[in-house]
Amino acid sequence: MENMFVLNNIRKTYDAKITSRPALVIEEEFSIPKGKVVAIAGYSGSGKSTLLNVLGMLDHPDNIQDCRMEIMGKELSFTKRNKRWKFSQNGMDFMQFRREHLGFIFQNTFLPRSLRVYQAFMFSNGIKGLSPENENIKKALREVGLSYEVKNKNLANARVNALSGGQLQRVAIAVAMSKNPDIILADEPTSSLDFTSGKEVLTLLHDWVRQGGTLVWVSHNLYQVEQYADIIHVMIDGRIQKTIDNEQKATTENEKFKLVETLEDLLKNAE
Ligand code: ADP
Ligand code: MG
Repeated sequence: MENMFVLNNIRKTYDAKITSRPALVIEEEFSIPKGKVVAIAGYSGSGKSTLLNVLGMLDHPDNIQDCRMEIMGKELSFTKRNKRWKFSQNGMDFMQFRREHLGFIFQNTFLPRSLRVYQAFMFSNGIKGLSPENENIKKALREVGLSYEVKNKNLANARVNALSGGQLQRVAIAVAMSKNPDIILADEPTSSLDFTSGKEVLTLLHDWVRQGGTLVWVSHNLYQVEQYADIIHVMIDGRIQKTIDNEQKATTENEKFKLVETLEDLLKNAE
């Protein structure tokens, strides 16, 4: 099976002066296979976001000399000079790589609220000169179920702060998907949404994976994880404590309940 990420020997401590407890420790090979919904599940503070940020090259481990990190078959090395990840292979710029291959969705979309929706596409994807009438934007919005005309207005021209949480998260998904990434990294994409919007967002992401994408999805919602993930990594105290193959989906309500119970037990016993 092709791996999108392979990590090993990773350690991240935020402020060694305040706490010696690392936020993230990976001591055995950890990989993310292509074409799966991979959930990182755990309670708040367990290190899920830290792991996602390392995967997305938004943050780097402490042990830059001897950590191991491979993205889509490319080994990363670290240049100390500008404190940035850089690919050791063929000198490709990691920012360019990230822009081309990775999509990000966060809990609260970080888009400036005064932005208009079509500008969000430019802002996030680093492109210029798109108009609100751009066909690709219309298509991207339609694909996430945002009809182009809302109250006779072009949604692409609406301000970000005029949208509901669910609409905003769909815009974030449309933006992430519009550049056709290989991998989407999503950090609690549904935690600010109501039950129905949450389901819609997860269904969109799940369907995108079934069409060939790879999703790494951070969540503390065990019920959602049970329902949508193919693989569940349970994180406790900065470490992946257990990995569950969830593809042989439970068929009865009883079995489903058992998985959530198992996850809950794992987390509770670790407290
Ligand atoms: P999760 O996403 O599972 O809630 P995080 O990865 O955000 O967990 O945090 C893991 C640990 O690292 C927590 O103890 C948290 O307080 C700490 N932490 C996270 N981000 C920072 C930061 N920017 N500065 C200092 N400590 C941080
Ligand atoms: Mg988090």
